[in-house]
Amino acid sequence: MAMPDTPVMQQYMGLKNAHAGFLLWFRMGDFYELFGDDAVAAAEVLGITLTKRRTAKEGDEGVPMCGVPYHAAEGYVAKCLQAGFKVALAEQVESPEEAKRARGSSALVRREVVRLYTPGTLTEDTLLDASRPTYLAAVVGDDGVGPSWRGVLAWLELSTGEVGYKQVAASTLGAAVAALAPGEVVVPSTLEPQLLTMMTRKQVSVQESLFHPTRTDEALKRVYGVAQVEGLGVDDTLARTALGALVGYAELTQMGRLPVFKAPRLVSARSVLHIDAATRRNLELTESLAGNRADSLLAVVDTCVTAAGSRLMSRWLAEPSADVGVIKPRLEAVAWLVENPDVRARLRHLLKATGDVARCVSRLLLGRGGPRDLAVLRQTGLQLPHVAEVLKSTLPSMLTQHRDGLGGLGTLTDMLVRALADDPLPALLREGGFVRDGFDAALDDARNLVRNGHTLLEDLEAGERAASGMALKARYNQVWGYYLEVTKAQMKEVPPHFIHRQTTTHAHRYTTAKLQELECNLGSAGATAQAREEKLFTELGDAIRAASYPLLAASESLATLDVMASLAEVAHRNRWVRPVVDDGMAFAVVAGRHPVVDTRVGTFVPNDCTLSDGALWLLTGPNMAGKSTFLRQNALLVVLAQMGSFVPAVSAHIGVADALMSRIGAADNLAAGQSTFMVEMVETAAILNRATTRSVVILDELGRGTATYDGLAIAWACVEHIAQHLHCRTLFATHYHELTALSDQLPNVSAHHVAVKEWKGEIVFLHTVQPGAATGSYGVHVAKLAGVPAPVVARAAGLLEGFTKAAKGKGAVRVDELSLFSAPATAREENIIEQRLRGLDVDGLSAREALEKLYELRGMVH
Ligand code: ADP
Repeated sequence: MAMPDTPVMQQYMGLKNAHAGFLLWFRMGDFYELFGDDAVAAAEVLGITLTKRRTAKEGDEGVPMCGVPYHAAEGYVAKCLQAGFKVALAEQVESPEEAKRARGSSALVRREVVRLYTPGTLTEDTLLDASRPTYLAAVVGDDGVGPSWRGVLAWLELSTGEVGYKQVAASTLGAAVAALAPGEVVVPSTLEPQLLTMMTRKQVSVQESLFHPTRTDEALKRVYGVAQVEGLGVDDTLARTALGALVGYAELTQMGRLPVFKAPRLVSARSVLHIDAATRRNLELTESLAGNRADSLLAVVDTCVTAAGSRLMSRWLAEPSADVGVIKPRLEAVAWLVENPDVRARLRHLLKATGDVARCVSRLLLGRGGPRDLAVLRQTGLQLPHVAEVLKSTLPSMLTQHRDGLGGLGTLTDMLVRALADDPLPALLREGGFVRDGFDAALDDARNLVRNGHTLLEDLEAGERAASGMALKARYNQVWGYYLEVTKAQMKEVPPHFIHRQTTTHAHRYTTAKLQELECNLGSAGATAQAREEKLFTELGDAIRAASYPLLAASESLATLDVMASLAEVAHRNRWVRPVVDDGMAFAVVAGRHPVVDTRVGTFVPNDCTLSDGALWLLTGPNMAGKSTFLRQNALLVVLAQMGSFVPAVSAHIGVADALMSRIGAADNLAAGQSTFMVEMVETAAILNRATTRSVVILDELGRGTATYDGLAIAWACVEHIAQHLHCRTLFATHYHELTALSDQLPNVSAHHVAVKEWKGEIVFLHTVQPGAATGSYGVHVAKLAGVPAPVVARAAGLLEGFTKAAKGKGAVRVDELSLFSAPATAREENIIEQRLRGLDVDGLSAREALEKLYELRGMVH
């Protein structure tokens, strides 16, 4: 869109071109204005009127334009971000007067982009979900993008200064990205297509130049203050490129102001439980398939009382550990808090009164904080000794460690207590009044002048009146400021230090050196007080920066304590038990329950599951019996146990799994151009290629997406391969009853079924898992339960009987519930009597021939 060639529009275009991909919000007086395509897009998203900016030129059509008032900008920014836009905020960085003074009467006000809003780099509470972490990530890899591609995923969190990275391969990148769930990923253009299969367009930011080696090295040196990048302790050059691009992007968006970053931490793929993106989605770990948090596993385990606790909980859940050394201490800590309910209750009570330290610190360090952020740090600082006091007894190591992590902030807290006024403090610095009286002498003086200005004036007035013997009055007007007025009637000899100002009809007006000084002080006192407060705020900010390590450590410890207390609380409320987690190959669950369904249904029927040493259970049973629930519950038990939580069971012994793999649900990916069956096979291939003896695998209805024999053949071959070669602990739910024959052939395969019973022609779901194969499918019963019209149900029942008989007769595979819907057409075609009848030329038959045909046809019916 062509922009008019005026100076202001040239300035606009300069900034716009320098920030491609961003909506440019251009400050003009009390508004942020948007122009051209930006204006068209923003007007629609924000629901505001689109106008035109016209120049004086005749016939000029004008540029589309819209604007929002500057004081309401944050809400509008949030809307644009939600709609997938990034926002660049251009401010006026000088006043019109300054511009004129510096560059003449027609000078343009200088404008600069002072802030970039992107989904991965937000810090404002209003723009963020307090209970979810916001990661910024970067991916870089070797040149090819084929199956042998290797690379690095790096991430940082502005609010905690956490920085980490992980080596990834073509087959693990998706899972790693899904586990991290970053708000935004920075990539070179070669990786854009790959990332777009995992994330939405708005979350993928292509930043070619940031990945340039000299630039990444410079960024790392600058941000970490090291002379040589080698000093960082990151040997892998790909990792350094990813980390450099990452901090470079953070610098870019934060305009160079950054929090203190921790040293980059290498997360080894072996230390975490691998869960691919589809499994993660299907297991509804952090959100349900419908996209809400309420029905997820996270909603059940997260009873945290702080936002930072909730964020950490979602991290633990999204990436359970695969390291017994990490899991065991967590379980010990949770167990101690289960056994000490009083401590738990007091701890949770105290934690509730702590604030979101990490996010306050980051805002303060990024220059976006206000007095209330300081108040949160004061309030939390005061709580810390009480929290530590509650945990003073002999404790499991992890609790001791995090109790000790709360220390080291006494001096800072004392200072905040001395410095800050009582709550509530003003939200904005410029409102003033957040520093306590008595903290700073210069501020006190300025404030005294403001507050006592009138008393001082009255004192001066009284003094001059007594000295001169005239009934003079101190007054004020806009033109002359303060003056002493004497009416002509009252006039006596004027003292020598009176300076004449003005004579009116009735009075004379004077000032004195003292009055002038007072006036000057009074006028500037307000500004002095404000400037002083701003200076003190900066000094407090410096103190926060200096203490940012202990502050972030305390924040992490508070969050960890909150998570462990929450897990203990959940274990107590829901009667969960401590699982035994070790390096063995056990999987023995007694009376396990589905953690989410158990809290929703009145009575949940518990079930055992034993897959120790690579056993494979073939699970049959009618639809609705509870097969999927059973599969998922056992997978969720692995997740819970390995994140360090108790589990819903009477007892559970789980040897640490390296990966949790699944093929469940009809994860249709039609939008991505893949058929259901293709998706099913891709997921199956991934499992067969990746699973190790340490993996736990759940497969639901494998082969269902294709024709009966195809599906059965594939399922059969898969079971054989898993049981004979992979030896991983596996649950395999199927409607192919034929598969159960494998349990006789393979020693580690056994058949189980979810029991139902028939009662007065109705089916009763017992939801109990029992040894042996199921006896029937009951699909027609389920169709009836679901409200399929009675004639259709009756017809289906009749057909089923026929098919079953036919199948038995031929000794072939029994027709399953699925082919119920495809079978009739095929069956009718095969009816030979009908074919013969249709082929008869009835009119052309003699009576005898007709009789013979009749005998022939009769002979074909058994
Ligand atoms: P399937 O996979 O066999 O078709 P589902 O696992 O989807 O069956 O379960 C069907 C219904 O039965 C679900 O609504 C679920 O809530 C309920 N259910 C499953 N297992 C149990 C159980 N053990 N106790 C109580 N209700 C259950």
